[in-house]
Amino acid sequence: MIIEGKCVVSIHYTLTLEGGQIVDSSSGGPPLTYLHDTQSLIHGLERELTGKGVGDRFEIAVPPEDGYGPLDPELVQRVERSVLAEIEDLQPGMQLEARDPDGHTRFVIVQEVTETEAVLNANPPLAGQVLHFDVLVDAIREATEEELEHGHVHQEGDHSH
Ligand code: ZN
Repeated sequence: MIIEGKCVVSIHYTLTLEGGQIVDSSSGGPPLTYLHDTQSLIHGLERELTGKGVGDRFEIAVPPEDGYGPLDPELVQRVERSVLAEIEDLQPGMQLEARDPDGHTRFVIVQEVTETEAVLNANPPLAGQVLHFDVLVDAIREATEEELEHGHVHQEGDHSH
């Protein structure tokens, strides 16, 4: 059986960024199981999986436009440190909760800290990044009627929805 249409696929994967930093991996745990052809994975990865069989292994570099989108420079802001004075031990990489002018809460990442300023990034964490996936197809099976109806995978012993 190959990956085609709406079938249930299990993969082991490692996601690495351009600089070699591993951001996500199924290694040491259960594989990721998803319903193919329902856009539950990022577009570039799902497209590459089509036609693969169990045991197939591949590496793929997914550009931002097929991943989490390009970086929006308008969502990167330089602010005075004094604005963030109440945050203890401000460090690059910290995630802060911010309120936009409409009163909505959003998460921003502290990208850079200097003595007087901080750079805050409100893009999705992986926006603008080339995503390097190392993928091994672990299992493929036909989807059940119920799974097709719901549009997602049902794990064993999970019939509650
Ligand atoms: Zn369901």
